[in-house]
Amino acid sequence: MSATAAITTRHDWSLAEVRALFEQPFNDLLFQAQTVHRQHFDANRVQVSTLLSIKTGACPEDCKYCPQSGHYNTGLDKEKLMEVQKVLEAAAEAKAIGSTRFCMGAAWKHPSAKDMPYVLEMVKGVKKLGLETCMTLGRLDQEQTQALAEAGLDYYNHNLDTSPEFYGNIITTRTYGERLQTLAYVREAGMKICSGGILGMGESVDDRAGLLIQLANLPEHPESVPINMLVKVKGTPLAEEKDVDPFDFIRTLAVARIMMPKSHVRLSAGREAMNEQMQALAFMAGANSIFYGEKLLTTANPQADKDMALFKRLGIKPEEREEHADEVHQAAIEQALVEQRDSKLFYNAASA
Ligand code: SF4
Repeated sequence: MSATAAITTRHDWSLAEVRALFEQPFNDLLFQAQTVHRQHFDANRVQVSTLLSIKTGACPEDCKYCPQSGHYNTGLDKEKLMEVQKVLEAAAEAKAIGSTRFCMGAAWKHPSAKDMPYVLEMVKGVKKLGLETCMTLGRLDQEQTQALAEAGLDYYNHNLDTSPEFYGNIITTRTYGERLQTLAYVREAGMKICSGGILGMGESVDDRAGLLIQLANLPEHPESVPINMLVKVKGTPLAEEKDVDPFDFIRTLAVARIMMPKSHVRLSAGREAMNEQMQALAFMAGANSIFYGEKLLTTANPQADKDMALFKRLGIKPEEREEHADEVHQAAIEQALVEQRDSKLFYNAASA
């Protein structure tokens, strides 16, 4: 395939084709990804979301990478479902620092009937603040999916994590088929899908290709594709895994961009361990979405003002909810960041 050939949206990728994308010289792959990216997106805009853990720890699933699994002792403080009001306050703060989407995550196998009314209130309240809403609550049945859609949920996150072949090495308490079923319900209910995976769990390049094939060969591409770098947490079975080669990580972002040209490819967990040069390379490879804020569920994330400083150096602007960002909004975000920083300084000074 020539580097500049127009890529159409496809749902029939084969392993041989995806392997060939991965095997290209790095510069050719990046050029191709950047070319595809520019056909569908403003190359200098990045969408920013904030993620809040609304229920933390004691999850009955056994995902080997996850500090929230009740199967491993990671010393994590467990927290019950947050009060709706507290969630709305966090959403308002996220909006003030420039996030356009607010993602709420609960460490559940699936939401219970008892918790659903609170979750639906959260969706309605965050919507009212003018933010896009996203949730990740585990497996859903059809009725729950419908209720979330009716409450105004825009996105549902449910990651496939890895290839179907490697999946059994990482999770044994939920099947790959169940994950695909939840994604199908989300589509049927008319919501957007956020689904991706994790690199650095000991998977092969073919497993990375296999994950992307599963996502790209869905009847519709997920609108959002998070590509995570494993955050190694002490106490989890993957704590001692080998680091992913940074170039292999960037390659995966580039291949995701080429295979799902219209999706937002999200540079997700693990960003704390990436230097600015690597993040810039990730944007070059077609990543155009990040999580923003100090914490990513339970692990650290680069601070919001550091992100904004990097955006400025790279000439990147946060993507608006409605397509066209204007300078006034940018100035408002920068002002909010200054205020946030000043209030932190004040807080530190007051508590010293
Ligand atoms: S990744 Fe999600 S489902 Fe798996 S253990 Fe963690 S919180 Fe539970």
